[in-house]
Amino acid sequence: MPSMGMSRYSYGECDYPDVAKPQIWVNKNLDQKDMINTIIHEVLHAVRPELCEESVEETANVLQEVLMKSGVTISLDLIKKSGSKTNKS
Ligand SMILES: [Zn+2]
Repeated sequence: MPSMGMSRYSYGECDYPDVAKPQIWVNKNLDQKDMINTIIHEVLHAVRPELCEESVEETANVLQEVLMKSGVTISLDLIKKSGSKTNKS
């Protein structure tokens, strides 16, 4: 969950999926938990733009928890090397 007072914009954002080469931006300074949550969150927005913010947050929180309990980690070094911009496709 994002800290109170910190807007979702500080974590990441995504293009609408109908633009050419839609992209997702993730703040590369996030810790593992927020990084995983933010990637899921932004992908959900991109794939299901009709979902409200609450639905996206709820789904992202559950998926992030399950993935982390399963031992999934994200290589922050890899993300930093390639920059914070990643192609969705
Ligand atoms: Zn959102």
